[in-house]
Amino acid sequence: MSIKSIFEYIFSELKNFEIVDAHEHLPPEKVRLSLEPDVCFLFSHYTAVDLVSAGCRPWNITSQQRRRLIDFLQDTSIPLEQRWKVIEPYIDYIRYGTYFRAVKIALKEIYGFDRVDSSNYKDISEAMRKMNKPGIYDKILRDKCGARYVLPQAGRTDYEKKYMRPLMWINSIALLNNPKEVHSKAEKIGLEIKSLDDYEMFIHLQLEKWKKENVVGMKTVSEKYVKPPAKDKAAIIFSQYLNGKIDEDSRKALYYYLKEKVIETCQELDLVVAIHAGVWDDFRRLDPRYNIPLFEKFSEVKFDLYHMGMPWVRSTAFLGKNYHNVYLNLCWSHIVSANMARSGLLEYIDIVPINKIIAFGGDYHAYSFEKVVGHLYIAKENVAWVLARLVDDKRMTREEAIEVARMWFLENPLKVYDLS
Ligand SMILES: [Zn+2]
Repeated sequence: MSIKSIFEYIFSELKNFEIVDAHEHLPPEKVRLSLEPDVCFLFSHYTAVDLVSAGCRPWNITSQQRRRLIDFLQDTSIPLEQRWKVIEPYIDYIRYGTYFRAVKIALKEIYGFDRVDSSNYKDISEAMRKMNKPGIYDKILRDKCGARYVLPQAGRTDYEKKYMRPLMWINSIALLNNPKEVHSKAEKIGLEIKSLDDYEMFIHLQLEKWKKENVVGMKTVSEKYVKPPAKDKAAIIFSQYLNGKIDEDSRKALYYYLKEKVIETCQELDLVVAIHAGVWDDFRRLDPRYNIPLFEKFSEVKFDLYHMGMPWVRSTAFLGKNYHNVYLNLCWSHIVSANMARSGLLEYIDIVPINKIIAFGGDYHAYSFEKVVGHLYIAKENVAWVLARLVDDKRMTREEAIEVARMWFLENPLKVYDLS
């Protein structure tokens, strides 16, 4: 059997798989329904990075200011023609990238269009608005993608559907802005905050409350490790903070203390800690290796390390190998670079036990979440490509390849996040 036909066999088996979509930024469906989507939405997330990189720089924005382009593309009070004109000349430059490929596949699979250009962008926009009806989450996430569960992180828990199992943001509770905010958050669960002990109690009760609201984990971002202050020192800083007298260094020290307190609480409550690693902007600050002290300190916490730490894919392989509590989640990775995801996953197989890998998370927002269909298609292609090579090398049978794929797409995320 040729490697091509092995690939085709595995890929066709994968087509009907039930999956866990192990990372999204989707709010409840009502938020998506309140939008009036059009073709510019499809270019407002991820692809906007490539557009700016290619030279699409209205108002001379820099790469770090791309949020302005994103807001512009999503602002439906500006006529569609006007927004389309800004990006149209640059689409040719990004059309071979994987971010764009997810757009292309979604256009075909969901709206039935083979291409997007000046001749059809209005028709596509009309089709998008027609489709934006109650049930669109079920239609795309359940029917098209076969998702048994979706793990969104949008800072809220009020999802209409039970299959949405949110993660909350560690900074929302560890990074303190002003004393007023602390008091009002704590009041909501009937607590008065007078000391660090009270705030630690608040963290515990808040996480417990979120867990009852179907929260399955807390998310943070890779950052240089800083040892937090001891508790007595942190308690003094916390009182200064409550009195409104705190300098920037103390504020940071308090943050590092509280961040670890939240992680410790996740350990007690059996919540996963997800960690963003790699890719964005000045990515030097997002090195996955910065997290090693946390992996060692909190040995009973399950850490779900995101995005293959791109471009530190090899480093993440050794983190997954050397630490029993580190899982490797390929969310976002397949569209950042299909080929880096493939070569990385091929090496993961050599290095990492197969129960440590989670194959997929779309990582989209409400504005362009239909691209999840394109992203999942690319993810399945990548997994089939990798496994076909192993079958061809006689390292596994075709049947074993299907079993491994099932673990990566479904069983591993079910176990890691204890979904039931
Ligand atoms: Zn994300």
